[in-house]
Amino acid sequence: MNNPHKIYLSTPHMGGTELDFIKEAFDTNWIAPMGSNVTEFENDLKKYLSEDVYVTALNSATSAIHLGLILLDVKAGDVVICQSMTFSASTNPILYQGATPVFVDSESETWNICPMNLETAIQKTIQNGKIPKAIITVHLYGTPYKIDEIRAVANKYNIPILEDSAEALGSSYKGQKCGTFGDVCVFSFNANKIITTSGGGALITHNPKLKEKAEFIASQAKDKAPHYQHSELGYNYQMSNICAGIGRGQMTVLDKHIALRREMHDFYVSLFENIPGITVHSTTNPDYFANYWITSILINPKETKNGIDRETIRLILLDSNIECRPLWKPMHLQPLYENYPYYGGEIAATLFENGLSLPSGSNLSDSDRNHISDVLLKLFL
Ligand SMILES: *Cc1c(COP(=O)(O)O)cnc(C)c1O
Repeated sequence: MNNPHKIYLSTPHMGGTELDFIKEAFDTNWIAPMGSNVTEFENDLKKYLSEDVYVTALNSATSAIHLGLILLDVKAGDVVICQSMTFSASTNPILYQGATPVFVDSESETWNICPMNLETAIQKTIQNGKIPKAIITVHLYGTPYKIDEIRAVANKYNIPILEDSAEALGSSYKGQKCGTFGDVCVFSFNANKIITTSGGGALITHNPKLKEKAEFIASQAKDKAPHYQHSELGYNYQMSNICAGIGRGQMTVLDKHIALRREMHDFYVSLFENIPGITVHSTTNPDYFANYWITSILINPKETKNGIDRETIRLILLDSNIECRPLWKPMHLQPLYENYPYYGGEIAATLFENGLSLPSGSNLSDSDRNHISDVLLKLFL
């Protein structure tokens, strides 16, 4: 079983027309953080998501989250509530603003923020004298969070939602696309995401004034004047017209690539069907449509053959040239964040202990799948 090339979790997958859009940028000399690729990429996203959203292309989702917090008026000393189980980019911008994160556990169905613990976190924060300024929610691995329940809690206390949809382009809930539910929403087009611009992000709002404000702050907050004049703090967060060209090409294959990721998910579901102790993270509720950006499994060593645990599987896969990774380590367990408040139990911590993400790209071949299934089946036979 000699497979010389490494099989990765998720790699870029070009559709074929990206270079044409880049050439357009060269031909018109728009080698700049603006131009027709940026405008058209924003239009493509708007068309894909919903006609009543406004899209601002940016240089990363991290910038988009930072900008989103600024639009929601998060300032030094404010409290922002956040799903603990996520990538650090969801929460670091809270610290950029000098605000205080308060973390909330996941529920076990979607692995995302738990509505009950969210409400407890809000109530305790208010008892401690602060009304939370925002709630950051995440659709982990492309599975939508409990949209209706979370929105009900947010509305009850009148707190806006910043929806981190970095992993969920193309996912939807009750027919509505993820990235349109929050008061502000973000996407990532980093190299490992479902589509890429090599690096990039987008901020989604429901109000043209907010888009205008986002563009203003993302381009150094230049006041209207013949010279450079500034009355607000600006950032250099715009997307390059070259990168946006890649994005335009990627949009033409987005749905095709989602179908291929979902086929990878089906592949793992049938692979593990008769293997005790392994559960493929799936959503069976018809309200939920997951893009299955990454397929992950949970290992219960009390039920697996010979007590095989997450680490055993992880090391054997790595040894066989197959990339895999434990789930996101919850923020409340990170050295950087362990002293901030946390509300919940052990769900996120247990997911982290027993979960493993598997190669899920839209560009894996039959021989890649054969190799993965040979290695895994041998382990459990
Ligand atoms: C990838 C990711 C981000 C950061 O995206 P960048 O574009 O790399 O800045 C933020 N949140 C989540 C949940 C992510 O997976």
